[in-house]
Amino acid sequence: MESMTAERPPVPYPAPPGDVWVAEEAGPDWQPAEAGRKCRALGPGGTAHGAPAAVRQLHGLHRRVWWQFCLQHGEGHWIEDGKVMQWVLKDEPGPQPPES
Ligand SMILES: [Zn+2]
Repeated sequence: MESMTAERPPVPYPAPPGDVWVAEEAGPDWQPAEAGRKCRALGPGGTAHGAPAAVRQLHGLHRRVWWQFCLQHGEGHWIEDGKVMQWVLKDEPGPQPPES
């Protein structure tokens, strides 16, 4: 059973020393997909992937259109609390007090 919430994908690559990956809301060009839309990414053989879309990205300079993608083809984005999230590389904030 696949859940649409809060299953964070792995970070793109290990953070360099001094940096950390932080989950942030993606910019306005990324939104949750419209209900019932299918992933537009092309799979092997050039046929559309066709999986249920989870996120959408705004494309085009003149005619702005939304491209819908499943999480597998969503360039690392995911949905959390109804928002599109992404990993952002940040400077490490320094030593943290131990959590208790
Ligand atoms: Zn897909």
